[in-house]
Amino acid sequence: MVLELVTHVQDVSGIDVAAKNKWRWDWITNTPLEECISKAKEDGTAWCSICRKTIKYGSSGKKALFKHVDSPPHQASKRSIQTNYNIGGYLKGAEQPGDHVRPVVPVNQRATQLEAMVLGFVAENDLPFTITSGLLDLMKAGAKDKKALGEVKLTRQTASYKMVHGVSKTLTDSLAERFNQTLFS
Ligand SMILES: [Zn+2]
Repeated sequence: MVLELVTHVQDVSGIDVAAKNKWRWDWITNTPLEECISKAKEDGTAWCSICRKTIKYGSSGKKALFKHVDSPPHQASKRSIQTNYNIGGYLKGAEQPGDHVRPVVPVNQRATQLEAMVLGFVAENDLPFTITSGLLDLMKAGAKDKKALGEVKLTRQTASYKMVHGVSKTLTDSLAERFNQTLFS
């Protein structure tokens, strides 16, 4: 049986006939429930789009809905959706919908996907859009050495350490080496 949802605010008294606590739109309107809870076309029943399951609120009303969104299973599903669908999750290699089937995607479409990924990354991290072309150059440069790219790991701590002790030391060393070669040898 397919559960149908009530798609817009309307009188649902024809649906909630036996329910002691009948559905009220103000339970969810302008609350965090709005993003995941919908009224189903079934007596005393709502639908959570995150857990993809029904919630019976007929006996305890909106308390049942709040209890559901506070429940550990709901919180866990919500977290897994956030990690799987944000760019960070995508970049870390979280499983994407459709990962099991890899269709042959034409190059122009893959380029569009890459563009979307870069723009998504920029937007999600509040970076200025002026960074996008530089970011693309960086990706292209990195892609030339796939083996090294696979080995690169930079956490926040190592990044700041290497910035101070790594990059500047490498620059100083190569500068010193060049001086040695040109001026003093
Ligand atoms: Zn849920």
